[in-house]
Amino acid sequence: MNTSFNFLGKSLQLYRYPKRFTHPSWQAWDAADELILDHIQQNQDNIDQTNIVILNDDFGALSCWLHDANIHHVSDSLVSQMACKQNISLNNLDNTQITYIDSLAQMPQQPDWVIIKIPKTLALLEHQLIQLQSVVSAKTKIVAAAKAKMIQKSTLSLFEKYLGKTHTSLAKKKARLVFCEPNLGLQQKPSPYPTVWKMDQEPFTINNHANVFARQQIDIGARLLIDNLPDCTAKTVVDLGCGNGVLGLCILKRYDNAEVIFIDESYMAVASAKLNVQNNLPTQMHRARFIVSNCLEQLENQTQIDMVICNPPFHQLNTITDHIATQMFEDAHLKLKKGGELRIIGNRHLEYPQKLKRLFGGYNVISSDKKFSILSSLK
Ligand code: SAM
Repeated sequence: MNTSFNFLGKSLQLYRYPKRFTHPSWQAWDAADELILDHIQQNQDNIDQTNIVILNDDFGALSCWLHDANIHHVSDSLVSQMACKQNISLNNLDNTQITYIDSLAQMPQQPDWVIIKIPKTLALLEHQLIQLQSVVSAKTKIVAAAKAKMIQKSTLSLFEKYLGKTHTSLAKKKARLVFCEPNLGLQQKPSPYPTVWKMDQEPFTINNHANVFARQQIDIGARLLIDNLPDCTAKTVVDLGCGNGVLGLCILKRYDNAEVIFIDESYMAVASAKLNVQNNLPTQMHRARFIVSNCLEQLENQTQIDMVICNPPFHQLNTITDHIATQMFEDAHLKLKKGGELRIIGNRHLEYPQKLKRLFGGYNVISSDKKFSILSSLK
């Protein structure tokens, strides 16, 4: 695995997070990071006193390389924050120069630079550009980058709509820069987020912040799992990778003495789940808890769990991967009470049965159709 990032006279060791799940072919930086750093180096003599806001710095490559500046690391992902902290510490860099800000919090005013790694979800980019409208000054330099194929007309029109005149560089190593000149004369436009849709299996109205999975309608996997929930009477249940919280909401409604812990690594997901319990079951908030966590890492050890319900993710950023599902199943096995149950839904071509067999010694097929299986393992 290539972990040595030697670029423009600086050498860093950079890993993804968690280190132990990193595939040998994965790197913690990409060509878009290199284009951004090259551009900053050419346009800023000394970065020591510079205020830089960095959005979506996947594994901390930009923050580590620019760590002499005052960095505001803005992200919706706890995993990204943890990767950055890990890499700052592995390289013995000064961690007091970096402030971590989640995607729903206020960004600092009038930064010298705004650097944007363009996210896969255009809605998250739109939310961030809307936030930037009230933050940038006429002097703020805005530069963004991504793989060239991710930069479409629709991407550039978002920059133009919310911030000002925008143009791109030529592609280099299949990546491209985007430059935007803030126009403070533009009328500020309101945010279309959270988006709202209605569930048909239960009478719930579901709010979704910009970066949440199934933002427009219920996921087919979630729908099937809702039809095949276990008996949660008097159980403490974790809705793992909760997204907007549809699974946990149904459990809270159907079992009036169950407790549900909603967990996701996305700040917007956990905030959406909280909003959805508050709005749909306001008198049941005392039976719900909300935790931003990488799998079950941030859940206190003493919490007794009877059940974990999960519709696992199968990609991280642009990479298709089952390493997150693997960690979710391992963590569930570790933290469940003896006799406790993990119930999951997965696409049939995924190797979830093998993973459950290895960890739990077996599994039952609760339901299956051409595309999906619902599997259950007992500890
Ligand atoms: N439960 C929701 C549903 O069924 O509609 C969302 C399921 S979606 C397939 C997977 C969820 O896992 C996403 O909300 C994603 O943010 C979350 N996720 C991804 N990586 C995670 C991690 N390392 N720890 C916790 N949650 C994670």
